[in-house]
Amino acid sequence: DVPHRDLLPVSAASAGRRMPVGLRRPPLRIVVTGGAGFVGSHLVDKLLARGDSVIVIDNFFTGRKENVVHHFHNPRFELIRHDVVEPILLEVDQIYHLACPASPVHYKYNPIKTIKTNVMGTLNMLGLAKRIGARFLLTSTSEIYGDPLEHPQKETYWGNVNPIGVRSCYDEGKRTAETLTMDYHRGADVELRIARIFNTYGPRMCIDDGRVVSNFVAQALRRQPLTVYGDGKQTRSFQYVSDLVDGLVALMESEHIGPFNLGNPGEFTMLELAEVVKETIDSTAAIEFKPNTADDPHMRKPDITKAKELLNWEPKISLREGLPRMVTNFRQRILDAQS
Ligand code: NAD
Ligand code: UDP
Ligand code: UDP
Repeated sequence: DVPHRDLLPVSAASAGRRMPVGLRRPPLRIVVTGGAGFVGSHLVDKLLARGDSVIVIDNFFTGRKENVVHHFHNPRFELIRHDVVEPILLEVDQIYHLACPASPVHYKYNPIKTIKTNVMGTLNMLGLAKRIGARFLLTSTSEIYGDPLEHPQKETYWGNVNPIGVRSCYDEGKRTAETLTMDYHRGADVELRIARIFNTYGPRMCIDDGRVVSNFVAQALRRQPLTVYGDGKQTRSFQYVSDLVDGLVALMESEHIGPFNLGNPGEFTMLELAEVVKETIDSTAAIEFKPNTADDPHMRKPDITKAKELLNWEPKISLREGLPRMVTNFRQRILDAQS
């Protein structure tokens, strides 16, 4: 009893499709799960701009219609309110599987739902890929390395993850999603790609989603102190969203399975990040120290040698270039919310 969409076989459906201007092949039909979220909506922009058709599946847990509303007039765009924990029938060529809350505040809000999304949601999307012969890309995470004992992290590192902690629903969930994906490849010949995404920021992030860049930017704009957790010496490496989207598409179109680290190797302590935010928005902003959360990784930085060599991809936008673009978007949204 799954909702039926379009039951045309992919090849027959492709046959009738006209070539859009600028595209040297018939347009693809692409599913983006989580496409109303932060990363997903930027990916949808890119896929539609190059002439393909996109179906977004999203349950709007953290996603927003506002992120994709500018495509509502486009006949190549379709939005389905659907929870990936439930099966669905569709006919497409590619599946970008992003559906999953990504901010610690959101994924800890209902940990059992988070693990169901990662396990049952990924299983359903793999079952779909297997049935229709679609290529499947999993957005995994740097969190699968846990609190890493190797620095920077290479794809060969197996990680240091607490299986019973408050972050486990997310990091163990994503590890299981990677396992399922590899098993569908080995057992059912599903064509797959795995991306391990490192901390990403940019326009359309949820303003109050609790992630560090969105917190600091919103706090500085609202003239509140920047909340640094712990001693602020823990590190992260921040990637601008357009670099990530370019990497995801390069990976999908490549001949390589991965896993590939997709991140910006520029590494910052949280205190350094606070300084960059102050320079960008308000040099007088205060810093307030707060207790850190459990199992917080001490350091994180991607080794992206593999993606550079095999995908010919590397990030182009530094934190100091990317941050102002996000600030413009946040300033407008905070103003809109006040009016
Ligand atoms: P986000 O929270 O903005 O987007 C996630 C989207 O998935 C939302 O639109 C949400 O409504 C949807 N969703 C959640 N559960 C769902 C379900 N059960 N069924 C259907 N839709 C569901 O997060 P994001 O930052 O855009 O992250 C996208 C993906 O990238 C996630 O899988 C995340 O784990 C991964 N990732 C992101 C980062 C990052 O820094 N942004 C880092 C590592 C990995
Ligand atoms: N599934 C889906 N859409 C499809 C095909 C499968 O949602 O087009 C779901 C299916 O309901 C099942 C999961 O994907 O829960 C795994 O499917 P698979 O065929 O691999 O396994 P099985 O159904 O035999 O358990
Ligand atoms: N953090 C912080 N202040 C905040 C939010 C987060 O200092 O207001 C810290 C957090 O403790 C962690 C780092 O910033 O060390 C990155 O946190 P985030 O939630 O953005 O991502 P993740 O922990 O998933 O990398």
